[in-house]
Amino acid sequence: MPYDVEKPDEQWRAELSPSEYAVLRQAATEPAFTGEYTDTRTEGVYSCRACGAELFTSTTKFESHCGWPSFYDPKDTGAVELVEDRSHGMVRTEVRCARCGSHLGHVFEGEGYATPTDQRYCINSISLTLQPAEG
Ligand SMILES: [Zn+2]
Repeated sequence: MPYDVEKPDEQWRAELSPSEYAVLRQAATEPAFTGEYTDTRTEGVYSCRACGAELFTSTTKFESHCGWPSFYDPKDTGAVELVEDRSHGMVRTEVRCARCGSHLGHVFEGEGYATPTDQRYCINSISLTLQPAEG
């Protein structure tokens, strides 16, 4: 499926830092408890660091204590794409930016967090840029 934003690999490599590239374009995972947004409570909108699409808001961010920013719902259902991921001997659901296909993280379900959806979008900080709310 083609994405709205498609760029040759060399262009992504040039536009992103090596660690951003590794996560966004090669589906690496940043080490737990190291990302800049893990414990952030600032109000605002989190957008894709690769293409700028608005993906999550601080309203659905919650304390999961898992080491990565966690959200119980994307900003809009269509903002993210969910893809079955069978790497590393596990079956997980990968979360990608629906606009550019960049890797964001994974979504887990039924873990018992007290959130409205019982879902945890476990997202790499480095895949996101927080735009703090005005005022
Ligand atoms: Zn994107």
